Amino acid sequence: MKKMPIIFTFDVDGETLWLNRDPENIDRPVTLSLGQYGPRRGLPRILKLLKKYDVPATFFVPGQTAEDFPDVVPSIMAGGHEIGHHSYSHKWPDRYTNREDEVEDYARGTQVVEALTGKKLTGYRSPAWEFSKFTLGILKDMGIEYSANMMGTDCLEYLEAFGEKTDIVEIPCSWHTDDAAFWLYSVRIPGKAMQPLESVEKCWKDEFDVLYEEFMEEVEETGDSDIVYCLTCHPQIIGRPARARVLENLIKHIKQYPNAEFMTAADAVAEFKAKKK
Ligand SMILES: [Zn+2]
Repeated sequence: MKKMPIIFTFDVDGETLWLNRDPENIDRPVTLSLGQYGPRRGLPRILKLLKKYDVPATFFVPGQTAEDFPDVVPSIMAGGHEIGHHSYSHKWPDRYTNREDEVEDYARGTQVVEALTGKKLTGYRSPAWEFSKFTLGILKDMGIEYSANMMGTDCLEYLEAFGEKTDIVEIPCSWHTDDAAFWLYSVRIPGKAMQPLESVEKCWKDEFDVLYEEFMEEVEETGDSDIVYCLTCHPQIIGRPARARVLENLIKHIKQYPNAEFMTAADAVAEFKAKKK
């Protein structure tokens, strides 16, 4: 029985989300405390929820968050989840003007996080979801096996960027299955309003329903499908009490469908690669 991979990803950005949005936030303790909510309250709440429903997930952790909040990596590992690369500083890649700075930041991220996990980081999520002109080459040099960034399809595929084909597997993402698009808020993000809980829950459930239907049709017609469902969340956003309930309702909804399987990004990628051999 073919199963559609359900990949829940969490970017544990902590304060780095705000520090990179505006360097002057370093002097704004209230803004920084929004970031602190993730490691302090949001992450434990989410880990408890994932444990309750036996859902494996993937957490992308910047090196700086791992250093600032020493419980983050061990608590994720204790839950049996995967940890992926999310740079050291969370600097937005398209702001790099030279390759060395980006290489150095990623190497530092690798060093800090791998020292805690004892495992090689195989997946990469770009901070702020963009590549610099150097990023792809750097990922190849680092031996990264998968990227979870591009928005051009609903299917697992091999990553192509800058006209170049690679053997890095790409996990498709989208802004409408990202909590930040609906709820990232601060007084200095003009034009943004928080969305009602019900609207976001409906959007995420509907997205699953359609993809599941298409997955089942493709399997019936061709015997296989590369369609996946990937959700991107941030403990400081989704980890707030009422929003965590949205996540719980989504898990309960998906669990009703026998041909959907929660898995880590790395496991979905391994399955895809085995199939394409
Ligand atoms: Zn991030």
